[in-house]
Amino acid sequence: MELPDLRPEKRIRVIIAAESTCELCREYTPVSLLELHRIPGSPKTRNGDDPQKSILVLCCACHEHVHVLPLSRKRQRTIVRKRGFEVRRDMRKVLGYKPKPYLPPDNIDLARHYDSLFELGSLVLNGT
Ligand SMILES: [Zn+2]
Ligand SMILES: [Zn+2]
Repeated sequence: MELPDLRPEKRIRVIIAAESTCELCREYTPVSLLELHRIPGSPKTRNGDDPQKSILVLCCACHEHVHVLPLSRKRQRTIVRKRGFEVRRDMRKVLGYKPKPYLPPDNIDLARHYDSLFELGSLVLNGT
């Protein structure tokens, strides 16, 4: 299964995120010979889903292999799970996925927080 919804320039960036390496045979392969495979049965990318979980970067030979055998979904997902932190992070960046945005604690009144620390005597200033 191909990924028709991904523009060529994005495909290339996903492949580069995977360090231009086939995720099945682990061979370093020129970008032009690598293909993106969508793991069948994975849910369509909804808002909040992690799209890199349903994509594999494969060389032509392995891609054919995955379809002809076929390689079980479980094994395909195992490959995704073994993906390194940096590859995962770079793929998410390319695919525009932000894992849980960081929300600054804007509901905490810092001044009051410090006051309460002084009151508790837990914040000791040097030289006073
Ligand atoms: Zn495919
Ligand atoms: Zn391969």
